[in-house]
Amino acid sequence: MPNPFVNAMKQLDKAAGFLDLEPAILAKLKTPKRILQFSVPVKMDDGTSRNFEGYRVQYNDARGPFKGGIRFHPQADLNEVKALSFWMTIKCAVVGIPFGGGKGGVAVDPKKLSIGELERLSRGYARALGLNIGPKTDVPAPDVYTTPQIMAWIMDEYSRLIGHTEPAVITGKPLAVGGSLGRDTATGQGAFYVLESLARKVKLGKKPRLAIQGFGNAGYHLARLAYNAGYVIKAVADSQGGIVALDSAGFDPMEVAAYKSKNGALGSLKTKFKKIASVKVLEEAVEVVVPAALENQITEKNVGRIKAKVVLEVANGPTTPEADVKLFKKGIVLVPDVLTNAGGVTVSYFEWAQNLQGYYWTEKEVFAKLKPIMDDSFAAVWQIAVEKKTDLRTAAFILAVGRVAEAMKVRGY
Ligand code: NAD
Repeated sequence: MPNPFVNAMKQLDKAAGFLDLEPAILAKLKTPKRILQFSVPVKMDDGTSRNFEGYRVQYNDARGPFKGGIRFHPQADLNEVKALSFWMTIKCAVVGIPFGGGKGGVAVDPKKLSIGELERLSRGYARALGLNIGPKTDVPAPDVYTTPQIMAWIMDEYSRLIGHTEPAVITGKPLAVGGSLGRDTATGQGAFYVLESLARKVKLGKKPRLAIQGFGNAGYHLARLAYNAGYVIKAVADSQGGIVALDSAGFDPMEVAAYKSKNGALGSLKTKFKKIASVKVLEEAVEVVVPAALENQITEKNVGRIKAKVVLEVANGPTTPEADVKLFKKGIVLVPDVLTNAGGVTVSYFEWAQNLQGYYWTEKEVFAKLKPIMDDSFAAVWQIAVEKKTDLRTAAFILAVGRVAEAMKVRGY
């Protein structure tokens, strides 16, 4: 599998070609500020002990505290976490929120842990981080296979360490301990705003069809919002495989989710469907394909089979740089992860701001503040792409790298 950090650095180099960066700044942008790597011992239910490899990469804090999720996944490794922490640096700058970039991970399959083991792992991870996180230093959040409950355990561990309750240390918490209204749906909501902006630029037809790989927090809420707005959900996939609707009306995502929670796999009682491999949904004949699961899903191998007009990247890093070039040449518009999925970190920023103020907003207020940020960021990226005659990813990086480099320069890095 391609190394996602190598891919991320190729993306940076491409954007740097458009910017007059000082060599020292570019070199610094290629190196994380701090890498924390540790093993987390966990007492298992059967009385044995296991050690899990844990990471936190604090990439860049020129614009504000490190910010980024924690991933619990069997394939989590240092290169993945480094890439994700770099992309967080870019993402926060694309949407102009006052954070740098960081990311955490544990190499574990959380589906194989009991709830008690998961709690001990999460608390152990928090203890390993200790005072390396904090509201003014590094503010983690959920990512793949981590949940609001896990955020609450980490917040609790940190609060015990410092001797008082500190909700602003982490975002994506349950509402009962300072979570923000709207955070659970924010990534899908932000991606939906981006999709609507895009539909004003690219002719997608009256009832655009979507094929979505990944039916978790991000993919599901985007599917639900798009379906409610009249888009057709033609295909969806999760880690076990994909399903393609045989009826032209497509799937009702809420019904597919209810089916999955009852039967443990994607399916539908209302819509006839066929089963395909998960990655194959990206090759469906639809207007928009949405990778919303993991990295490296659109590569040199399958890029030639992408038939959509648009690739809307909800997952982080789903497209390799080689595939990027081919999509651009074919005239397929790719809306990059650092823009499309930035609704999540933007509402995390709102959660942090509410925690620091101790003053909480309504869901209506949250989305009223999110929409202009997503709309304006899309417009800024689109304009740079037009001006520089380049793809939207490079345009987003030009915008973000310019902002990060400016902060590094004025701070005298
Ligand atoms: P999640 O844990 O809620 O869901 C992950 C989904 O991906 C599940 O449906 C799972 O079955 C599927 N999946 C896992 N491995 C797969 C595989 N090999 N093939 C196909 N599907 C697979 O995670 P999420 O929060 O929805 O995150 C999905 C992506 O979106 C990740 O790349 C994440 O970094 C990104 N993202 C999420 C958020 C957020 O707020 N949730 C914010 C920004 C970016």
